[in-house]
Amino acid sequence: MEDHFKRLSELLGEIVDLGEAAALLGWDQETYMPPGATQDRSMQLATLNKIVHEKFTSDEIGELIEKLKSEMSSVDPDSDEARLVKNVSREYDKQRKVPSNWVAEFSRVTSLAQEAWKKARQRSEFALFQPDLIKVLELRRQYAHYFAPYDHIYDPLLDDFEPGMKTADVKKVFAELRPKQVELVQAIMDSQYPVDDSVLHQEFDEQKQWDFGLEVIKAFGFNFDRGRQDKSTHPFTTSFGSNDVRITTRLKPDFLSVGLFGTLHEAGHGIYEQGFSSRLSRTPLANGASLAIHESQSRMWENLVGRNRPFWIGFYPRLQEYFPDQLGEVDLETFYRAINKVERSLIRTEADEVTYNLHIMLRFELELALIEQTLDVADLPQVWNTKMEEYLGITPPNDADGVLQDIHWSFGIFGYFSTYCLGNLIAGMLWENILSDIPDLEKQFERGKFDALWNWLNQKILQHGAKFEPAELIKRATGSELSAEPYVQYLNTKYGEIYQF
Ligand code: ZN
Repeated sequence: MEDHFKRLSELLGEIVDLGEAAALLGWDQETYMPPGATQDRSMQLATLNKIVHEKFTSDEIGELIEKLKSEMSSVDPDSDEARLVKNVSREYDKQRKVPSNWVAEFSRVTSLAQEAWKKARQRSEFALFQPDLIKVLELRRQYAHYFAPYDHIYDPLLDDFEPGMKTADVKKVFAELRPKQVELVQAIMDSQYPVDDSVLHQEFDEQKQWDFGLEVIKAFGFNFDRGRQDKSTHPFTTSFGSNDVRITTRLKPDFLSVGLFGTLHEAGHGIYEQGFSSRLSRTPLANGASLAIHESQSRMWENLVGRNRPFWIGFYPRLQEYFPDQLGEVDLETFYRAINKVERSLIRTEADEVTYNLHIMLRFELELALIEQTLDVADLPQVWNTKMEEYLGITPPNDADGVLQDIHWSFGIFGYFSTYCLGNLIAGMLWENILSDIPDLEKQFERGKFDALWNWLNQKILQHGAKFEPAELIKRATGSELSAEPYVQYLNTKYGEIYQF
């Protein structure tokens, strides 16, 4: 066994190295690469990704997995070794099932679809994207068929982002969540105590915003000896091993929330990546357990910590020192209410904590209907608008601010959106446990101390990387199955107080 495991680790190490080199090129593309290099860079990335795929799906890896699977019966099933073999075996089977001509066709069709989507969005005309979306959906259905039999045709798509999760699980939890969220939004809209957030819409020097953000995320535990922050149009996090984690942010000079909460969000992703145990490095287990688990970390630091009163009791005086002219005369309560303003808005990425999940549930339902072929692509804009009215009480004036707002479908990504909402729900579940395990947590926040929270997260989530599948990780951390209840309770308590109902 020793020899087989050693050989597998060697091969995986090389694959991880190559993947991280590709990630570095990808990071550079979004931050410092001159625009003229686009074509060359895409060739370099394609070559590296092809080598990674070939090496990973090689016969040798397959043979090693087979041998190790039987040899592992004598090893603790919860050991890193047993879990690594399980994880790699699962991913190997998946990748081997997809023929390379499908991969080539998918890459060709989606690169055309991205162009079509850009044009359609510019002109706000869904019909320009429609034929491409039909082709993408056909390919996605074909992809799902490679994994037959399945309970639902959407399961294989979801599984790429949430290992082990089924469409039925998501449907169940969303069905429980949706009416409660719609009701909460309505109660807020009916409130006699509307929130004024004009204090956030002033001129805020970008360098000072940047500096304040760094001060906060250092306190959160983002380690700048093993990471850095840069600027990019769309904020993101990537890493080349947990000793080199890159986050990005973007700043708006006339709106404080964009840069501030964007920075806290990406730092949450970054803290997760920096937390993977060094025992897992150069293996596929040095990864997030899933997108939803990743998002539970970013949303927790952004919202449950960063839009929480105790955190600002500690940090607001500091923010006032950075911006005495803008905030010197603004009291904490006015500021706290402003950063938690709830609005019926059209655009998902700008949505607040309360309405955000509704944007996601709408997309999940439409994706299901498209993949199931119970919804005609031609009817998509109309159905989008009807659902927006039903869930959020607002109808998009055009396709650009409606059905064409997200880039994901043009990339051929289906099964991804629900992870954003699931991340919120998981954050709610973790938070409930954290508050009961650390009774003075909020007192610590008031003093600018976050190490007890970091330690809890590290023990339960961060260090394990992708060792456990998401459902098992959640069960180990909270003792419960996925549930919307803790997050709904958190929202109701917090916003009931802010909007006084
Ligand atoms: Zn995120």
